[in-house]
Amino acid sequence: MSTQPIALEMQNVSKRFNSSDFKWLKRGKETAGVLAVNDVSVQVYRGEIFGVLGPNGSGKSTFIRLISTLLVPDAGRVTIFGHDVAREERAVQRLINRVSVEAAFFKKLSPFENLMYGARLYGLGGADARAKIEAILKRLDLRADAIHRPMEEMSRGMQQKVAIARALLTAPILLLLDEPTTGLDPRSKREVQHLVRELRDAHDATIVLTTHDMGEADALCDRIAIIADGKIVALDTPRGLKQLVTRNGHAPTLEDVFMQLTGKQLVTEET
Ligand code: ADP
Ligand code: MG
Repeated sequence: MSTQPIALEMQNVSKRFNSSDFKWLKRGKETAGVLAVNDVSVQVYRGEIFGVLGPNGSGKSTFIRLISTLLVPDAGRVTIFGHDVAREERAVQRLINRVSVEAAFFKKLSPFENLMYGARLYGLGGADARAKIEAILKRLDLRADAIHRPMEEMSRGMQQKVAIARALLTAPILLLLDEPTTGLDPRSKREVQHLVRELRDAHDATIVLTTHDMGEADALCDRIAIIADGKIVALDTPRGLKQLVTRNGHAPTLEDVFMQLTGKQLVTEET
């Protein structure tokens, strides 16, 4: 892995939300603000599936937003394939693709139209783009007629797959997936996980994904950063993480690791 070039580097990155930033929400109730990301340093290599595992409120979405130029860090530096996120925003935006829980696409448009829109954003046009998009959508096991039906008529799992498949339009790419499988049924979850693996294996994608699902992190990620209160408390392969804890009788799970490192229980399943 480490012979691969660095896709993402974060050096001592911090982000605080001040109480004044959301005063309008809390009407007068003063809070000290929250250090959502606290002095995070990390290197992700090209071709990795890198997981950020933590409970709700631990800073996962903020972490992703800092990489994707949606938020500016208070301190520290983020580079993507060597491009500084703060100074080379345009170059960075061409190298990243972010998909959040509320998948960002036009619900009234079809998968085909959504991908055409994406292609234009990346400067691809004409017949090339059309052919590429048709090939991409074929890989998703969409019914032929669904390609030209509004996205809102599809299942959430399928919508998520279309959103992720947009990453196939460009390479190399750093794909940022913020809780890609949260709220999906078990089958859609497996399909999305399969697609993530395929993107890495067949399409030279580097993937940073957040999750609060231990099983997903364990099965899908090459390395995992465990995050609690904005800080990385451990970073290793799933195997390496499990070796941090010793258990009598049964093999340790990531749940055990999390408990030991943070003293907290990770709520595994969303309601
Ligand atoms: P996660 O994605 O792991 O649930 P977040 O990154 O969304 O965590 O949030 C981390 C912390 O930062 C939480 O305490 C949250 O309330 C706070 N936070 C996130 N976004 C904002 C914001 N825009 N304004 C103020 N506080 C925020
Ligand atoms: Mg989040």
